Amino acid sequence: MSFENLGLSAAILKAVAKQGYDTPSPIQAQAIPAVLQQKDVMAAAQTGTGKTAGFTLPILELLTHGKPAKRSQVRALVLTPTRELAAQVQDSVATYGSQLPLKSAVVFGGVSIQPQLAALKTGIDILVATPGRLLDLYQQRAISFDALEILVLDEADRMLDMGFIRDIKKILALLPEKRQNLMFSATFSTEIRELAKGLVNNPVEISV
Ligand code: AMP
Repeated sequence: MSFENLGLSAAILKAVAKQGYDTPSPIQAQAIPAVLQQKDVMAAAQTGTGKTAGFTLPILELLTHGKPAKRSQVRALVLTPTRELAAQVQDSVATYGSQLPLKSAVVFGGVSIQPQLAALKTGIDILVATPGRLLDLYQQRAISFDALEILVLDEADRMLDMGFIRDIKKILALLPEKRQNLMFSATFSTEIRELAKGLVNNPVEISV
């Protein structure tokens, strides 16, 4: 298995090669084609499995094909439980997408909201966010979800452990119904399966 067989275009393959990755990890080999086929995905994967590239690479690919984000719009939203994870995911997006005409940003709480308000004005192709700050920004009318195409819940089990279920449900209610949903979790408890029921449609299930 090589990255060349997964359906990614040259600019993204170049970024992957630059990172020194030769072979897709098992989660990447399964998730990348499924995401590119615009399927919903439910994946059981721990940190360290390469899950971040597993969703960021195909999302970048899909977003290069559609219309760019207009003022305040967000096309792909990645929700993470912590600031640290949000920053890491955004780093991966920026690295893999460095040759692409896409805009990305990260927003989380505990820091001034002003620069985040300003950053969102131009429209963002991929936004990585923690749930509370995302809702604050939405309430301040800084974000439009009209053009949202893809939602990712990263580390969904930690989100539930940290008590984000209400915020997640509020966010889901704001998004267009027709969208692609990807859910990553280290474990699939009854609670996570319950959340998945209201989120993913006929998902490709991946376990690594
Ligand atoms: P993650 O599980 O997404 O947190 O990624 C874990 C680490 O694996 C990160 O430091 C990545 O840079 C690295 N990584 C991701 N995909 C690959 C790959 N296909 N080959 C080698 N390293 C990788």
